[in-house]
Amino acid sequence: MRRMMMKYRTLGNTELEVSILSFGASSLGSVFGEIDESEGIRTVYEAIDLGINFIDVSPYYGLTKAETVLGKAIKNIPRDKFILSTKAGRYGENDFDFSSKRIIKSVDESLTRLQTDYIDILHLHDIEFVSLDQIIHESIPTLLELKKAGKIRFIGISGLPLKIFKVVSEQVPLDTILSYCHYTLNNTGLLTIEEEMRNKGIGIINASPLSMGLLTKKGPPDWHPASDEIKRVCRQAVQFCEEQGVAIEKLAVQFAVANDRIPTTLVGTANPKHIARNVAWIEEPIDMELVNQVREILKPIDQKIWLSGRKENN
Ligand code: NAD
Repeated sequence: MRRMMMKYRTLGNTELEVSILSFGASSLGSVFGEIDESEGIRTVYEAIDLGINFIDVSPYYGLTKAETVLGKAIKNIPRDKFILSTKAGRYGENDFDFSSKRIIKSVDESLTRLQTDYIDILHLHDIEFVSLDQIIHESIPTLLELKKAGKIRFIGISGLPLKIFKVVSEQVPLDTILSYCHYTLNNTGLLTIEEEMRNKGIGIINASPLSMGLLTKKGPPDWHPASDEIKRVCRQAVQFCEEQGVAIEKLAVQFAVANDRIPTTLVGTANPKHIARNVAWIEEPIDMELVNQVREILKPIDQKIWLSGRKENN
């Protein structure tokens, strides 16, 4: 066990104590490039061994592949060693179904693929693509029923535009929100809703500290939706860090976990060495002078993001 150093924070009112760095399993679905399945499974074991206790996935990632690979890994780990989040409602790039019937079926399918009998947090996946009225009046009530039935313990929503979190949480009770690309070196927009969520007891999950590859030496995948301007400015920051002899990935992961008001940050990889490196980095002191220099380069794009889903939800 090498877990002594990992820190944990409470996730809103759920009383869940989550590791400040957590594991996003989308990579296990080969969304960032083909993976070796056994390496992917080893990445999960490595994450748990290092004290990571929160894992997020979705039926959408790799069109069920990520859940299937993750299931093969977690069946060998005692169920009380990790907190599991999966999602419902998104099944393909343009395939959304947030109806009650489909959500109920989806949760049963996820339980089978994940080889477990309950899910800790069920997030409605990328809700900005549909009518928020349906989310509020049909999907959330369905999740509350599934909660009563014991299949899920907590409920939440995920998506890109911060507006969705405000609109939905004003009308229905939520345990968590899962936001991505909004608390990183290049965008700190999540802080604009943090207080409101905290006051409602909603646990904030921050995903994609590397901005889905923008803040990596390798660069973003072809499908990355950021504008040319965002990509260009991020490349400048990557280059600057290289000149300073520091991996931007290190600075980005350290920056995301450093803020006490953000309980946990989901980072994705299917490479055991990368997850070990990410955990080692958060145990090192953060070079604030360098952070400030990099944030200065990225300043022109702070608060800039791309459109996602319906116009009215952005
Ligand atoms: P990320 O910012 O974590 O970046 C992932 C990329 O960075 C991958 O290419 C990975 O190989 C690379 N990487 C990771 N560690 C590295 C290291 N040490 N060195 C070099 N490269 C490294 O983006 P992500 O994977 O999209 O986000 C993390 C998780 O958050 C996802 O797996 C998913 O669980 C969740 N998420 C959810 C939503 C949603 O609900 N809509 C959206 C985005 C992300």
